[in-house]
Amino acid sequence: MGSLSGLQPFKVLVAGGSYGGLSAALNLHDLCRGLPPRCGQKPAEGEHVETPQFAVDITVVDERDGYYHTIGSPLALASETYAEKNWVKYDDIPGLRSPNIRVLQGTVKSVDPSQKVATYLAHGSIAEPEEVQYDYFVAASGLRRVWPVVPQSLRRKQYLFEAGDHIRAATAARHGVVIVGGGAVGIEMAAELELVHPHLTVTLVHSRDKLLSSEALPDDVKDRSLELLQEANVDVLMSHRLDRTEEIKDDSGKSCLRVHFTNGHTMLADQVSLAVSRSIPSTTYLPDNVLDEEGYVKIQASLAFPKDTPNSASHFAIGDLVKWSGIKGCGAAMHMGYYAANNIHQQMQMQMQYQTAGKEEPKLLELDEIPPMIGLAVGKKAVAYWPEAGVTSGEDVMKAFFGDDLGFSICWNHLGLGGEEVE
Ligand SMILES: Cc1cc2nc3c(=O)[nH]c(=O)nc-3n(C[C@H](O)[C@H](O)[C@H](O)COP(=O)(O)OP(=O)(O)OC[C@H]3O[C@@H](n4cnc5c(N)ncnc54)[C@H](O)[C@@H]3O)c2cc1C
Repeated sequence: MGSLSGLQPFKVLVAGGSYGGLSAALNLHDLCRGLPPRCGQKPAEGEHVETPQFAVDITVVDERDGYYHTIGSPLALASETYAEKNWVKYDDIPGLRSPNIRVLQGTVKSVDPSQKVATYLAHGSIAEPEEVQYDYFVAASGLRRVWPVVPQSLRRKQYLFEAGDHIRAATAARHGVVIVGGGAVGIEMAAELELVHPHLTVTLVHSRDKLLSSEALPDDVKDRSLELLQEANVDVLMSHRLDRTEEIKDDSGKSCLRVHFTNGHTMLADQVSLAVSRSIPSTTYLPDNVLDEEGYVKIQASLAFPKDTPNSASHFAIGDLVKWSGIKGCGAAMHMGYYAANNIHQQMQMQMQYQTAGKEEPKLLELDEIPPMIGLAVGKKAVAYWPEAGVTSGEDVMKAFFGDDLGFSICWNHLGLGGEEVE
């Protein structure tokens, strides 16, 4: 498409190529081709929705060399077969094959909203970071999570070794595996390990008297999660706070760990996995004034940077790194990606004067407050809660929320990653 005003192709830079970042990139790609956005409401039969078409160059920068389904981590770190499926190199994703989208492996290092220029360091490079000029920027770099919550490798090949070593160490265990932390991650890690390796003794320990104690969820959800864990054969120790672990020799002279709790209880284990650390936003590349004291981006309801940021209407933040209500989740990240894409497309229309000489305001989609809701896989069953439906649980809930691959296909299909190649 020819340039109408010298502005096109619009250059869009997305930091982070996971649920949020890919949703922003792909929904924008749809809108700029005049198509209904894939994560938006489907048009009614016979309804013809036409959006103004713009030439666009979308660059996604991610530290990893592929799309990693974070939700599948507890299973990827329990099953080598599933680990293979759970990370797909960007080059092997059909839905990203378009001349308008490129994915670079690297780390975004800085963003200067006033100049609309960012820097990124290519993976493995020892050179200076490279500059990228952009018209629109989307921050979708999520949270930094520690091992073994997620693998730390940045390349698929290395990740398969990391996951394989971890699985072999856990399954060779004679005294069992202890998982510390009864939040959503710890619960899922314990349940998946026990599901894939039923001969293992898996113990989940939690310092409080209810699981999910830091989430603003009704007690019913917390109690049901405990029941499902116990049904899944996981040993659960409530009100046990980890004090320390000590390497010792067991009766047969083999190395293992003695786990000490602050209440005096001790037990033996071969592996102790911590699922307690708080994940921190990966936002160090952004100016301080757009961040709160914990590093979350202080978005407006339109997902744009705070009003007092230079060029705030050209800068968006989505997914786990935003300061907004609700429990963080992949559904919210993909939804925000769609909103950001819509709002960027609206701003493009303003710039191209499709609307009468700037008299009309762009039609921005704005986030509502998000109530606490959750879908939690616990072995073969899942527990779910949202205010209208209350608490539900069972194998049917598992199927509805996670399908039969811990949500891999649901997210893959929602993002259209298997989609046709566009020439
Ligand atoms: C074990 C586990 C289980 C979970 N289970 C569920 C569940 O069942 N349901 C649910 O809804 N949610 C679940 N979640 C939460 C869900 O995974 C997150 O809400 C989701 O990943 C957020 O997506 P995002 O795109 O905002 O960020 P992320 O998924 O965190 O992705 C950020 C991306 O940015 C990249 N990146 C980071 N910094 C930079 C940088 N400086 N430059 C370039 N790239 C960068 C990273 O490599 C990564 O690919 C779970 C989380 C974990 C850890």
